[in-house]
Amino acid sequence: MPHFNTVVVGAGSFGAWTALTLQRRGRRVLLIDAWGPAHNRASSGGESRIIRMGYGANSVYTRWSMRSLALWQDLFARTGRPLFHRTGVLWISHPGDEYNSQNLSEFEQAGVPHETFSQAELAHHYPQMSLDAATTWGLFEPESGVLMARRAVATVVEEAQRQGVEYRCAAARVPADAEAERSPKRRESAGYLEGITTANGEAISAGKDGIYVFACGPWLGKLFPALLGERIFVTRQEVFFFGTPPGDRRFAPPALPTRIDPTPESYGMPDLEGRGLKIAIDRHGPGFDPDSGSRQPSPEGIGQARDYLARRFPGLADAPLVESRVCQYENTSSGDFLLDRHPQCENVWLAGGGSGHGFKHGPAVGEYLADRIIDGESGNPRFSLETKQVVQRRAIF
Ligand SMILES: Cc1cc2nc3c(=O)[nH]c(=O)nc-3n(C[C@H](O)[C@H](O)[C@H](O)COP(=O)(O)OP(=O)(O)OC[C@H]3O[C@@H](n4cnc5c(N)ncnc54)[C@H](O)[C@@H]3O)c2cc1C
Repeated sequence: MPHFNTVVVGAGSFGAWTALTLQRRGRRVLLIDAWGPAHNRASSGGESRIIRMGYGANSVYTRWSMRSLALWQDLFARTGRPLFHRTGVLWISHPGDEYNSQNLSEFEQAGVPHETFSQAELAHHYPQMSLDAATTWGLFEPESGVLMARRAVATVVEEAQRQGVEYRCAAARVPADAEAERSPKRRESAGYLEGITTANGEAISAGKDGIYVFACGPWLGKLFPALLGERIFVTRQEVFFFGTPPGDRRFAPPALPTRIDPTPESYGMPDLEGRGLKIAIDRHGPGFDPDSGSRQPSPEGIGQARDYLARRFPGLADAPLVESRVCQYENTSSGDFLLDRHPQCENVWLAGGGSGHGFKHGPAVGEYLADRIIDGESGNPRFSLETKQVVQRRAIF
């Protein structure tokens, strides 16, 4: 008999928190990852990720962000790792900005601390930012900020191991049920996954009543090609860090918060831990292979980031590019997560589709899956496989 009854494949934000939460709720968990927690090619492998409460009218994500921030902070307090920077998050807004008006009303209902700034107040608080005529107001979340992503995931996995989770570096092969999807004859007999094998040929079984959770981020479509190959859209995303002038604290917290800027769809973080001012465009890039895609930034991407920098932060127009990263979003059709049972295998669960905003929600994802798997709670349709289409219509930002 194995000493575990649950296998979680994938130690990114979703898988690590799911493993920790299932273990805390009494399952005995084996967590495996092909390269390691939040490694360089994983979507969770970046330096930093924003945690914000604003989700327009999508209040479920506001509630999940609130809950997740509390659980991240609890983890960091417990482990003595200060991996959350309370930079505040500033939404830069224009007249008739429906999304931010919805944020405002959600904040009031949910009790999210916030402030609004007029254009004159924005100019007063942030003289290092240039405000065009379209920027007429700002919405500020003072309690939100930035999670130091890859170190935060490593901390979750360490904590999970302290709680009894076994962690191994191993690559799961396409499970038998995924093969069955391609063969209608076998599909009829599929229904229960007995075990998985690894790339080294090792057989892993969670035993009788075993549960398998595949939290494989941008690799989900490769593991389940028939089911998810056309439902997870992996896109190439570039991130840039620009160096600030020596001894100049105008671009670091508390002088500058994290920003979400609709013109163009960009976001950025202040200079944290001396890495430089971070800038990224949130628009979906071209399709991308997480195994073999080039991690070199494109000249167009650098040009776009520089244009933005010169416009919003004229003092950094000639700042050196000190670091860049190419990562990937693993989008669903709408941007809603995929957290559901495999339709042909009752003991298999799928967790992914973070869609460029999933990192912060790892703790809430773990709780949601534990509620469903252990307590048999019914699911929210927006996280179901059924609602995931083969044509992208992004609705969640
Ligand atoms: C540039 C960028 C900026 C982002 N900004 C934000 C942000 O500011 N805030 C936010 O909340 N979110 C943000 N996101 C989104 C967020 O990072 C992702 O949604 C989240 O990290 C996804 O986590 P995951 O665990 O689902 O996937 P991953 O982190 O990719 O983890 C999946 C894991 O599965 C493993 N795996 C895959 N196949 C196998 C296999 N066969 N066997 C074993 N292991 C396997 C992989 O090795 C990997 O470690 C951003 C994403 C990007 C790329």
